[in-house]
Amino acid sequence: GYAGIDAGGTLIKIAYGRGTAAAENEQSGGVSASMPILVKFPTAEIDAAVAWVRRRVPRDTVIGFTGGQAQRLRDLLPEYMASAVGIPEFEATAEGAVRILEAEKEAGEAGTASERFVLVNVGTGTSLHMIEGAERPRLGGIGLGGGTIVGLTGLLCGMRDYGEIARLAPLGDREAVDLTVGQIYAPAVPPIAGDLTAANFARPVPPASGARPQDYAAAVIGMVAEIVVTVGVQAAGLQGTNRVVYVGSSYENNALLRELTLRFTHMLGAAAQIPKQGPYSGAIGALHLA
Ligand code: ATP
Ligand code: MG
Repeated sequence: GYAGIDAGGTLIKIAYGRGTAAAENEQSGGVSASMPILVKFPTAEIDAAVAWVRRRVPRDTVIGFTGGQAQRLRDLLPEYMASAVGIPEFEATAEGAVRILEAEKEAGEAGTASERFVLVNVGTGTSLHMIEGAERPRLGGIGLGGGTIVGLTGLLCGMRDYGEIARLAPLGDREAVDLTVGQIYAPAVPPIAGDLTAANFARPVPPASGARPQDYAAAVIGMVAEIVVTVGVQAAGLQGTNRVVYVGSSYENNALLRELTLRFTHMLGAAAQIPKQGPYSGAIGALHLA
């Protein structure tokens, strides 16, 4: 059998087996029968990932390891090393994304699947790739990503729990923190949409009641979405495609980041896709390349 493990800076993602029944999927919420078992663990709790592998994955399994923490994890799983394979992170992410899109297309979940697209992996940090058949060059990266959402919101208001940030952000008001185009032009009518951000975190006078934690969370997520989308769409334009696919755990259970990413991408004239299994692209890619 085969498994893929993507040990990232924040989360360890595991994809194990093929043709496994959907009922066995512990965390992926019921996917097609051809998908592997998908589970994740915080990298800070690497011992829990090690224990899961020892319990569920037979010793003769060929495991493809990828991600920045792959070597550390491998050192903790010596009994699997005889058949282990190291997969470069960017190859694994690209391969997994292509596989996930193909599976979604077969399941009829996604419409157009043009062959050429820009892949934006919003993990702890963000990296961009061009996907064109077997050619998958890395285009670059930016330091704004899911880690920024957790880290900057934590610095601003002490809220550091990812689940809490993602849950509260949709209730927040970005105008308590950001300066909009409408505010700069008021009372005149702005030449572009007034609710566009003119300057992130630049509201000149804070609201009398002060910005609330959910306002900071919304503003941080808004900034990350705006920059990630701007860079992704511009990269797509330079590559001669208008299709951008976003993956990475930053989209998991984060309704505001998803919504803003889709909206901004469409606003800039490109087609956006956030596949459900995007958080597992590295793990699924490592599984198939192992
Ligand atoms: P990198 O690829 O940059 O090394 P990574 O692979 O660990 O990092 P991902 O797992 O793709 O990155 O995404 C991590 C981000 O996902 C976090 O920064 C956070 O915004 C978000 N996230 C989603 N679920 C969780 C969770 N349970 N705990 C912490 N962060 C989470
Ligand atoms: Mg990653």
